[in-house]
Amino acid sequence: MRPAPDAPALDRRTLLRIGGVAALTAGTALASGAAAPARAWTSARTAPRPADWKALGRGLEGRLIRPGDAAYDAARRLFDPAYDGIRPAGVAYCANPSDVAECVNFARRLDVPLAVRSGGHSYAGWSTGTGLVVDVSPMREIAHRSGRATVGAGAKLIDVYDRLAAHGVSIPAGSCPTVGVSGLALGGGIGVVARKYGLTCDVMESVQIVTADGRLLACDANHHPELFWACRGGGGGNLGVAVSFGFRTHPAREVTVFFVQWPWRRAVRALRAWQAWAPSVPDELWSTLHLSREGGTQVQVAGVYLGGRAECERLLDRLADRIGATSSSSVRRVSYRQAMMIMAGCSNLSVSQCHQGGSLPGRTPDGRLPRDRFAAKSHLAYRPISEAGARTLVAEVDRPGSHSVLLDALGGAVGRVRPDATAFPHRAALYSVQYYAHRTGATAWTRRAHAAMRPHFGDHAYVNYVDPELKGWRSAYYGANAGRLARVKAAYDPGRLFRLPQGV
Ligand SMILES: Cc1cc2nc3c(=O)[nH]c(=O)nc-3n(C[C@H](O)[C@H](O)[C@H](O)COP(=O)(O)OP(=O)(O)OC[C@H]3O[C@@H](n4cnc5c(N)ncnc54)[C@H](O)[C@@H]3O)c2cc1C
Repeated sequence: MRPAPDAPALDRRTLLRIGGVAALTAGTALASGAAAPARAWTSARTAPRPADWKALGRGLEGRLIRPGDAAYDAARRLFDPAYDGIRPAGVAYCANPSDVAECVNFARRLDVPLAVRSGGHSYAGWSTGTGLVVDVSPMREIAHRSGRATVGAGAKLIDVYDRLAAHGVSIPAGSCPTVGVSGLALGGGIGVVARKYGLTCDVMESVQIVTADGRLLACDANHHPELFWACRGGGGGNLGVAVSFGFRTHPAREVTVFFVQWPWRRAVRALRAWQAWAPSVPDELWSTLHLSREGGTQVQVAGVYLGGRAECERLLDRLADRIGATSSSSVRRVSYRQAMMIMAGCSNLSVSQCHQGGSLPGRTPDGRLPRDRFAAKSHLAYRPISEAGARTLVAEVDRPGSHSVLLDALGGAVGRVRPDATAFPHRAALYSVQYYAHRTGATAWTRRAHAAMRPHFGDHAYVNYVDPELKGWRSAYYGANAGRLARVKAAYDPGRLFRLPQGV
């Protein structure tokens, strides 16, 4: 694998199998601002026979897992057990871009529904289906050179942090260790250094992607610029199968990690104080406010400060002055790598343990992380909410159940990018809001809380917290960028091979 922009490593066999040297050259050499028209293709509309599946398996360097294989049940599972009932006809663990092209051509030729998977964390289960699942997990190489990282599309976030930390660098990305870099980066990517360094899609400098016609395209600001634009926030599963990303890195040395709690009776005050404080502190400080009812009720502000402990405490004091006495707090200076492990919930685990367990690509034999059944919805707050809004949100959290509202600070570097510079439009948002619930009543609670807060937050939503029930999803996820995304889709996937219920 590793078709890095500065070190293309495709061998001759790969080139031939994905449609010829000419096709690749035509794909990569286009430097105009216009989207390249995708090659016209037609489907044979014939259901695949067992022999077709066998031929597909033989043609892959990676592994095709089919019903009846010992690994099938493990291979078809996503992060959320809610989708365990879905039985794909095949799961292809693609070892390189030509495996991906092989799968794309198979699906197109034989009219097999295609789903694309990296970390398997899609909230809606859209990285599985009844046809062919293309899993990019084997393509997980992570390399660094001269301030740039090349990351295989199947890399999990904890491995990205760990490998890059060895070079004293990192990229801004999310906190969940087993999320795949692909789903995260293609939809935006909110993380603990976002206010300083931006979203994951903001540091994306290139992406290699196999499109519906089986071509491998190298996209950046000068090559297929419209497709590149769409890959920065347009959402995974829409435009092709990403196989590799090029990211700009930032230095990663010691940082300060903090967790501060207040008594639940301070929740309304904490919410109002935090939403004024979080987007206004220096960009070096990123924080998240959790209002939770998981067992007991809890108000917690956690975060990362890219600076010393004393300065961090001074900034936290400014928040505490507005809320009142804390019930507990912890402020620690740690290495960047350790900070990512802490924020991932893996502070007592090794990196290898900080994975899902198993022997399939992307998992580790000693992986300890559980899967999670949950329901979720989102908003983006473009304005601070009123006292009445804060009271409503706290009252929703106070209802019986097992749920949280997670508010992640934005602003800073995220807000300095123009809304149309990438497909992620929410540049003016102060923070994201996620309603996240477990167990009996989870779906009902998220629906209710989301509806109750709509008058206060409006209709914006984050495509990475994809919500199949969301009305007006096109404008909620993409705002004024929706039309341009649809044009890119029409240019690169006119036959809509990549088909999602909320497809651009
Ligand atoms: C526990 C948890 C914590 C999270 N934390 C954060 C966070 O801190 N910040 C944040 O921004 N988000 C966060 N998310 C949301 C996360 O970014 C999205 O769920 C994301 O889409 C997951 O990507 P994935 O590759 O793991 O999932 P997948 O289910 O594999 O993919 C998600 C979508 O992208 C598509 N896709 C996957 N791989 C490719 C590819 N190679 N090419 C093209 N399309 C592809 C899939 O078809 C699917 O539609 C979190 C989610 C969970 C469950």
